[in-house]
Amino acid sequence: MPAAKDLYEILGVPATASQEEIRKAYLKLAHKYHPDKTGGDKEAEDKLKEINAAYDVLKNPEKRQQYDRFGTADGQPFGGFEGGFGGGFEGGFGGGFGDIFDMLFGQQGGRQRANRPQPGHDLEYELLLTMEEVVKPLSKKISFARKENCSDCNGSGAARGSRPETCPDCQGTGQVRSSQGFFSMSRPCARCSGTGLFIAKPCQTCKGKGQVRSKRDVSVNIPAGVDTGMRLRLAGEGEAGLRGGPRGDLYIRIKIAPHPFFERVNEDVYCTATISFTQAALGATIRVPTLTGMGDLKVPPGTQSGAKLRLRGHGYLAMHGFRQGDQFVLIHVETPQKLSRPQRELLEKLESQGNAKTYPKRAEYEKTIENLRKQKK
Ligand SMILES: [Zn+2]
Ligand SMILES: [Zn+2]
Repeated sequence: MPAAKDLYEILGVPATASQEEIRKAYLKLAHKYHPDKTGGDKEAEDKLKEINAAYDVLKNPEKRQQYDRFGTADGQPFGGFEGGFGGGFEGGFGGGFGDIFDMLFGQQGGRQRANRPQPGHDLEYELLLTMEEVVKPLSKKISFARKENCSDCNGSGAARGSRPETCPDCQGTGQVRSSQGFFSMSRPCARCSGTGLFIAKPCQTCKGKGQVRSKRDVSVNIPAGVDTGMRLRLAGEGEAGLRGGPRGDLYIRIKIAPHPFFERVNEDVYCTATISFTQAALGATIRVPTLTGMGDLKVPPGTQSGAKLRLRGHGYLAMHGFRQGDQFVLIHVETPQKLSRPQRELLEKLESQGNAKTYPKRAEYEKTIENLRKQKK
């Protein structure tokens, strides 16, 4: 940079210019020499650096005053201010126009540039599974639609051979600022809908959006024992980011379909089995469906209705820890109905021989009511 060049001259303003005039002049020049406009021309890039350096001094009233007093005669016009420029100043130009605005608005109240890379959205997919499926780890193929960067325009949204330009209305900030007396108001730029970019020739494939929806197949590994409401995260399987931003994630929301026979409580599985009252009295081995097939359950002699029998280890493996759940079988004892004459005779014979040993609960009950009867007397 030529040392003797006047900073005001670089920005094309008189030394008496107001801060606002300096800002406006800078924006105009920065826009004019933006690499997107000049196609990366080396001379323009140097010019842009010069403009930036000049503005960095003049935008700051304190630095400007120092510059006014000491000028550029020493041949190192910015030497005295190095500390104030910060590391971001020198490194800030390579990335193009946006960096300038980061600097500019970052220091003027935190306004952000609109066209920075944007991470892609997360997606959620509800995966319906059966109770039997999730006993073991399983792999499930799923298909869903997600936004991908358009391959015809590499996600820029601009037709082949062109590129998006910085929106001239908002200078790429996506916001238009207007001053009303003491207050400064911001609203989204109408021309670029707040994106900060202006696409003169939109890509035909994506209609200028830079992204298209397409189908994606993913194989999901599901650990054993998942339950309704659990979410699995597949990092980087969400929608593509904008302008080079990272992909979002895909969340698999697990839903277990209701089962006609089983019910899950934590790691355990519950079901109900109906047996005859003679089976309950004599004991039996009955067939019980389990999550993995058929199981045999020993019903001990004298089992009461409502008893809870256990098929050990036939539940789910705990997601956290090592507990292996069980299957509980609730026993429902069925009383015989619509008896034939021989059946009735058999039961009457059985009943006539019933005593306090075979029916201890009934004996207890009779004793209780006998006591109540005595108390009343
Ligand atoms: Zn496209
Ligand atoms: Zn705009």
